[in-house]
Amino acid sequence: MSDDQELGITESKEHSTGEWYAEVVRKAGLANYGPEGMSGFIVTRPRGYALWESIRNELDARFKATGVQNAYFPMLIPESYLEREKDVVEGFDPEVAWVTQGGYEELEERLAVRPTSESIIAPYLSQWIRSYRDLPMRVNQWCSVIRWEATETKPFFRTKEFLWQEGHTAHATEESAWSETITRLDQYEEVYEDVLAMPVLRGKKPEHDKFPGADTTTTVEALMPDGKSVQGATSHYLGQSFAEAFDITFTDENEDERVAHTTSWGLSWRALGALVMTHSDDQGLVLPPAMSPEQVVIVPIWQEETKDDVLAYAEGIADDLRAAGVRVELDDRDEHNPGFKFNEWELKGVPVRIEIGPNEVEEGTTTLVHRPDGESAEADREGIVGTVRDHLDTVHAKLYAAAEENLTENVREASDRAEILGTIGQHGGYVKAPWCGDEDCEAKIKEQVAAEIVLVPFEGSESDTDPIHDGETCALCDDDAVETAYFARSY
Ligand code: AMP
Repeated sequence: MSDDQELGITESKEHSTGEWYAEVVRKAGLANYGPEGMSGFIVTRPRGYALWESIRNELDARFKATGVQNAYFPMLIPESYLEREKDVVEGFDPEVAWVTQGGYEELEERLAVRPTSESIIAPYLSQWIRSYRDLPMRVNQWCSVIRWEATETKPFFRTKEFLWQEGHTAHATEESAWSETITRLDQYEEVYEDVLAMPVLRGKKPEHDKFPGADTTTTVEALMPDGKSVQGATSHYLGQSFAEAFDITFTDENEDERVAHTTSWGLSWRALGALVMTHSDDQGLVLPPAMSPEQVVIVPIWQEETKDDVLAYAEGIADDLRAAGVRVELDDRDEHNPGFKFNEWELKGVPVRIEIGPNEVEEGTTTLVHRPDGESAEADREGIVGTVRDHLDTVHAKLYAAAEENLTENVREASDRAEILGTIGQHGGYVKAPWCGDEDCEAKIKEQVAAEIVLVPFEGSESDTDPIHDGETCALCDDDAVETAYFARSY
């Protein structure tokens, strides 16, 4: 046990969110800051990495079930490759880290450390694709990328090097590529909801905030308890710009040469930042059962004369749970008392605790306690596997419900500038307003309350991102509104 953990969480989530977040990340053993002189880099500790693995396993299984294969490309990209798609060079130029020397040799051409890999993957898709029979072609890579972020960094949310997956696909038609874009957005949404227990809003980024070179950038956005939005993942329909720049062509059924349509899509460890920020509290980390390395911790409570019986009983329960595939930890350490163990597992976020003392042994019961709210229930030893599964589902549902309540309560409408500014200033959250589509109108809001347009709803969507612009004028100028803008401050 480190000194860190003994101190517990001292900052308040409500009153000093930033400090609280940093303390939870450190004391729950998720990450440390990188070495001096490398601000913006973090060291991911085993518990933090285990959380990333949970997301990775869930996403990877979904990708593979829908035709995606994993591959790996070099982390360095020749400058001439980057330059082939002009929007990519311009978009990423300020954030690229360069390698100019190898050993003692000055390189003839400098190499970019990948900020994203379209420019090195596309030339290979070009080689591998010959005919329409090769399409769609889908590759994904799990890797890290480097973006020399100018804005303030924060563990997981915004780091200069971050872990992510990037999927890259090529298709014969626009419809096929667009359908791919939405399939991946659906999968991101599903993982946020079913694994991270977080509801998200779906939509498009405004034109001026698209991924460089993309035709359309789609996004899932999550609302944090402090009223700021997080871009949870993005899926881009790239149109034909990359295919043209990198010569991704194929012969169709009539032997005609055609240019492919491509997509790319990525989810980074920013999802972990959003997870911590959403569910955790002043006792520390709170993890949804699908994410937690341990879903259940059993804490036996014994005196010397009851120790053997209590431990044997606890081990029996642990064995049953393990055999059923529940991730369970039996904390039988001698050197710590039960109160200490409770605190430690609360700090680490384990969703359900089972307490077992002599009474439980005698009566053939167990006591189960939920991490998010401390609610406890007595349950029979018999049928413990089913009972635990039910409790894990309940904990997931509790976490989701709390996050959903925060989201639904914090989407508000506004029809003019004063109302947008006032609502963001007072409540945070999302403010939806009719918008003409002009970036200058967004700038008027950005300057004053640092809020931006984080998404515009898809046409005809039936979700809570329903558009409200039909027949309206822009909330910020006199032009006709062509879109509904969701303004929010964001991470
Ligand atoms: P992009 O390639 O810019 O669309 O980014 C893909 C995803 O990576 C975004 O949806 C973000 O959630 C995430 N992301 C972008 N920049 C960072 C960063 N500096 N640190 C962590 N995650 C990031």
